[in-house]
This record gives sequence, structure tokens and C-alpha cells, in this order.
Amino acid sequence: MSTPSLLILPGDGIGPEVMAEVRRVIDWFGARRGLAFDVTEDLVGGAAWDVHGTPLTDATMEAAQGVDAVLLGAVGGPKYDDLDFSVKPERGLLRLRKEMDLFANLRPAQCFDALADFSSLKRDVVAGLDIMIVRELTSGVYFGEPRGIVTENNERVGINTQRYTESEIARVARSAFELARRRDNRVCSMEKANVMESGVLWRQVVTEVHAAEYPDVELSHMYADAGAMQLTRWPRQFDVIVTDNLFGDLLSDLAAMLTGSLGMLPSASLGAPMANGRPKALYEPVHGSAPDIAGQGKANPIACILSFAMALRYSFDQGAEADRLEGAVQAVLAQGLRTPDLMGPEGGTPVGTRGMGDAILAA
Ligand code: ATP
Ligand code: MG
Repeated sequence: MSTPSLLILPGDGIGPEVMAEVRRVIDWFGARRGLAFDVTEDLVGGAAWDVHGTPLTDATMEAAQGVDAVLLGAVGGPKYDDLDFSVKPERGLLRLRKEMDLFANLRPAQCFDALADFSSLKRDVVAGLDIMIVRELTSGVYFGEPRGIVTENNERVGINTQRYTESEIARVARSAFELARRRDNRVCSMEKANVMESGVLWRQVVTEVHAAEYPDVELSHMYADAGAMQLTRWPRQFDVIVTDNLFGDLLSDLAAMLTGSLGMLPSASLGAPMANGRPKALYEPVHGSAPDIAGQGKANPIACILSFAMALRYSFDQGAEADRLEGAVQAVLAQGLRTPDLMGPEGGTPVGTRGMGDAILAA
């Protein structure tokens, strides 16, 4: 088997700072676990605009299409606020997502015991929480036509269209079922089939894909509003949740706050399987470039490190090594190490970006 390839795009703001810690983690896996990666690093976002006048060059786009996985830091920052929309840093990320056709956005909500008091809910509700939200990312009401603001009967009308084809629903459903098989084998599909035609079709297609291809996985359905309620009442009842673009946007933000700081949250965006059977994939922390703390060495690198753990699991088939990395994160949190964003009333040992990276490597 050839060496697995990884394209690293640190980007802007705290992106390069947190990615530097990930590079050390990757080197550690090479030196200590015999797990070598063919790593290339390139520019994206404002950093690419500074050099090339575009947030993503064609060459970088092509490289992204050719590797086993892409790992991205963050893009954007005040320096680029006045740029033309077509070359804004965020457009670099959007182009990657679109051309790689990354239709399944995975957001885990996992509660690290040492941070359970950070949750918006009570400790006993979130302790041990480990769920995965799969959000459809490339269709639905954000993209459906017709859309726009028109004039009808002498007043303005704002129009968006929720539209899903059965193949769009089937492919994201498959992503969710595949994930469930590697986890607790349960999928809950959320829509509003009671009031939306797209929801009726969503439920039908998920049910059909399940019956034909994944009868071994436990499937349930829930209206998305009830799902939001259940997520805050008793989140541990879920394993994998699969839902559309709009509901997924809301539900994944809600789930994020079950577990605490933005500095802790990884994500993956997956597309269709490549020749090697693994999906096209881009991994990135949920947080942005955090210009308010950039350059100060205090950003929390854990979200980006956990994004690499997801890459180990979903792109490189190294679930045990992903567990090892997540275990190290768990251990340093239990030791009481805290970047400023994790510093709560109970205190802890203050560390910066590098200090957190050191501790995770040691663990
Ligand atoms: P974007 O528009 O790119 O999503 P945003 O405006 O949502 O960005 P972030 O850049 O994610 O904002 O930052 C939101 C807040 O969270 C900021 O105060 C930032 O300092 C903080 N923050 C984000 N990521 C981290 C991190 N890794 N460590 C510490 N604090 C963070
Ligand atoms: Mg944001």
C-alpha cells in the first residue's frame, strides 16, 4: 500500500498556529507508531490571496482532488473584509467543498468528562455523550431554485425553495448508515414530513435505502422540532442523526453547545467514495480564524487535533490510533490543563497553544 497522502491548508488567523501543533502530532505518529503520511502544505484563504491574488489556486484545487484527505485550519480575517466577494477568503473554502462535492458534513458532539460543567446542560445529562450529526451540505433550501426577492401585488416577496432529489437523499443516508456501523449502529433521521413534501420524500428514501442496504442498522425517524427538544432533554438517546442542510445547520450548532467550547469541536465533510473505497474528505475545526486572539499563542489546538483524529478514523482506517489521540486529549483535560477558552470557575493549569500541544504529545 502506498503512503497515505494529506494536503494541509493552515489558512489564516489562528489556523497556522493550531495547525503547527497538528504537524507535530502527525510527526509523532510517523516516529512513534510507524504511521507515515505524505504531507504537502499549501495556501488557502487570505494567505493565498496575499501571494496569488486568489483564495484558492487551480493548482491547489487539483492537489486537493488528488490526495486521500485535506486538513484545513481556518480562513478569513479583518484584513480581507473589503475584498471583492469573488476573492474573499471564504470563497476558497466554498470552492473546495463544491468541487470536491462534499455532501455529508459530520459534526460529532462528544462530552469530555473534565469539561462536563462547561455544557449548557447539567453534568448528568451530558456525561458520556457521544453523538454524530450528519448534515446534508450541498442541496436543500440554501441552493434550491427559484430563489430571490421579487415584487408581487405591489409588495416584495422573498423566495427560497427546499428541493431534494432522491439521489441526494440516498447518498447522505448511506454516509450516515456507514458511520453508524462503525459506531453504535443506530441512525435517527430528522425532517418535517408532517408539513414538507421534501420531508415526505426524505423519510421514504431513507427508509428504502435502509431496507435495501442497511437492514442491520437500527433506524428511527423524528420530526426535526421534536429532535431539537430531545437533543436538549436526553441527548444520549442518539447515536447518528442524519438531516437536511437547514435543520442540520441548526441542530449541529445546538449539539455543539451541549459539549462546550468552540475550541474543542472538529468536523469532517465527506463526498463520494474514491477508487480506494474511502470518501473524498476535508477535515477542519468548527471554529473560524479567531482574529481577536490570532498571533498571541493562546488558541486552543484541540479542535484541529481532533479533526486530524477524524481523518485517522474515516480516511486512513486507523480507528485505534484515533482512539489513542482522543485518549491523549481526554487525559490532558483530566490533568487540568486549560487554554484560556477552557478556563472555567473551577480553575486549572493555564497553558497556551504550544503548551497544550506538548502535553498531548506527552500523553
Ligand atoms: P467564522 O465566521 O470564520 O466562522 P466566527 O466569527 O464564527 O468565524 P471564530 O473565529 O470562530 O468566529 O471565533 C469566535 C470566538 O471564539 C472568538 O472570540 C474566538 O477568539 C473564539 N475562538 C474560536 N476558536 C478558538 C480556539 N481554537 N481557541 C480559543 N478561542 C477560540
Ligand atoms: Mg462562525
